[in-house]
Amino acid sequence: MKYEAVIGAEVHAELATETKLFCGCPTTFGAPPNTQTCPVCLGMPGVLPVMNRKAFECALKIALALNCRVDEITSFDRKNYYYPDLPKNYQISQNHRNLGREGYLDIVVDGALKRVNIWNVHLEEDAGKLVHPESSSDSGTLVDLNRTGTPLLEIVSAPDMRNTAEVEAFMKTLRNILLYTGVSDCKMQEGRLRFEPSISLRPVGEQTLGARVEVKNVGSITAVVKAVEYEIERQTKALESGEKLPQETRLWDDRLSRTASMRRKETSADYRYFPEPDLVEVRISEEWQAKVRGTLPELPVAKRLRFQKSFGLGDYEAAVLTDDKSFADYYEACLAIGGASPKAIANWMINDVLRHLNEQRIEMAQFPCAPARVAALAGLVEKGTIGLGTAREVFAEMVAADRDPAEIVKSKGLAQISDESFILEVVNRVLAANAKSVADYKAGKSAAFNALIGPVMRETKGKANPQVVRQLLEKRLAES
Ligand SMILES: [Zn+2]
Repeated sequence: MKYEAVIGAEVHAELATETKLFCGCPTTFGAPPNTQTCPVCLGMPGVLPVMNRKAFECALKIALALNCRVDEITSFDRKNYYYPDLPKNYQISQNHRNLGREGYLDIVVDGALKRVNIWNVHLEEDAGKLVHPESSSDSGTLVDLNRTGTPLLEIVSAPDMRNTAEVEAFMKTLRNILLYTGVSDCKMQEGRLRFEPSISLRPVGEQTLGARVEVKNVGSITAVVKAVEYEIERQTKALESGEKLPQETRLWDDRLSRTASMRRKETSADYRYFPEPDLVEVRISEEWQAKVRGTLPELPVAKRLRFQKSFGLGDYEAAVLTDDKSFADYYEACLAIGGASPKAIANWMINDVLRHLNEQRIEMAQFPCAPARVAALAGLVEKGTIGLGTAREVFAEMVAADRDPAEIVKSKGLAQISDESFILEVVNRVLAANAKSVADYKAGKSAAFNALIGPVMRETKGKANPQVVRQLLEKRLAES
């Protein structure tokens, strides 16, 4: 029997607000334990929560970016459970009237558009953190409540994905939307963005869903892809051997690259949700919605498709250029300056600029040269003033000292030689000195042609325009 994977995701993103969701405590990452708390986020009796407007607007922004329906009224509920990192024994969340619902996210997989439905987008508060000491001499577990009450956006997708390529595209596109809109810094290594995939298998053609396995504790996009791959394989084997799979939550172990059972999945009834009595419902007027919608930038997939269409770029090039908003902005700034084709500038961005950023481990904002420099360099190559090899050397000097590429070419005498009479002299000399290669070429050995290009390039110190060299060599060989 053939099985098909049915994959959905729950995504948690910490919002980039300066203060917590219901109190004024700061949300700075890495502060000494338990220094960013107050009676409200510690859940002391008698305290009252006050909504953070900025956090609410961030959540609304994402609901709109994900094409959700936003009802006029949204409200909050208590999700009750006991855990040592949750001092008040409930989390303020949304259950009955989510902020956004029935939206979708379009992703691009292998150049084709695919739609993943979004069940809901809602706002909740994060819990604290349990710290397990690393050395074996320390026993016990420590509680750090700095994170308690940090605004958290939860996005729940429909189980519309069928393979890891779609899961990866979904995560990257969603992360880009969060970054483009500036609502989260998405630092997965700091736990500020968390993806929890849920995977079930069913025989191909079957409509009912199999037992759902949710995977927690996956700290990077690569790990999520590995975890999904692992689960598909594990569940396939189990089903093939006639085993019945339970609905459960499993933990990903990155070191061993496998999942292990954590607990049988609880249902929402286990949480005894009830309306939060300390918060009023929030009324979202048409005007407020329109105002927030007006702050949305062009989103990644739209930008990617526009780059393909307007600039004649391939899917891969457009994807790389729009993967990071500041990178895409820099590219468009180069285009606005002009002097080279969109394709030529795209090649410099994707190859050399990106390699420089990766090698130096810096962000686009720290790139030493203004867009005019990259546009100028691409123009020099496109006009044939310098060859690609020389241009790479110029690029290195350009970024090392933030110098104008044209000035580097001039001061070092690097300009390519396209003067035909000069190159013809060299070609004639080379032909006279390499009678064997000429004879080989005439006897039909096409490789001999390249053996003649080498000496011409050497004699001109690599500055001869290779196209002119080829043309003249072909012409002279045909004549002789
Ligand atoms: Zn607080």
